[in-house]
Amino acid sequence: MSNVIEIVDLKKRFGSGENEAIIYDGANLNIEKGSFVSLTGPSGSGKSTLLYLIGGLDRDFTGAIRIGGKNISGMSDSELSEIRSFKLSYVFQFYNLVANLTVEENILLPIELSGRKTKAYKDKLEELLELTGLTAKRKCYPSQLSGGQQQRCSIARAVLTEPEILLADEATGNLDRSSGEEIMKLFKRLNEEKGITILQVTHSPECAAYGSRIVRLSDHKLVEA
Ligand code: ADP
Ligand code: MG
Repeated sequence: MSNVIEIVDLKKRFGSGENEAIIYDGANLNIEKGSFVSLTGPSGSGKSTLLYLIGGLDRDFTGAIRIGGKNISGMSDSELSEIRSFKLSYVFQFYNLVANLTVEENILLPIELSGRKTKAYKDKLEELLELTGLTAKRKCYPSQLSGGQQQRCSIARAVLTEPEILLADEATGNLDRSSGEEIMKLFKRLNEEKGITILQVTHSPECAAYGSRIVRLSDHKLVEA
């Protein structure tokens, strides 16, 4: 199996002098293609930071981060944004849906914004509405949806372009238990049926258990839990 994400001897700090905070100090992690990894660890330890580093949103680190075998340090801004448009997608705790757009308009928004033709994504949209259980809600606005439905909409938006990697930062953090479970089941289907590699940050042991592997951020390193 090949690794889609490789992190080698990662060192990351914020600030300097007496304000310096060491976040990573020689962290290593390999994530195999097609796996579903849960990342846990104390609040403020650097889990979100790791997801930003992997997507090239924060380039101030030492060590190597490779996506699909390619070191992101050597990439230009346009190569990185290409990766963020097609290879890797984010889902956050808050859904970031646009209030005055419908479910289907929200899902298609990244395509619209990138200037591509939304028509080409017609079948994919239908498939994702079905998969996320939002077909009947397609013409609804976010305010007409439950939290779980809004998160499912943001997940459909994140996977419309068929990314290889989905990075989820406490995607269930704002949801009740049963809505959270629905999100985990959706992640599992996306992982198993679509082969999307998932790295999710979560505080919940129940959610972490949906992963095929649990990694813990501890003492500025990444260790198998
Ligand atoms: P987690 O997601 O595990 O709760 P974060 O990755 O958000 O933790 O943050 C890790 C630590 O780094 C925290 O102490 C946070 O305050 C600090 N931090 C995060 N982003 C910045 C930043 N841009 N500048 C300075 N400190 C930051
Ligand atoms: Mg966080």
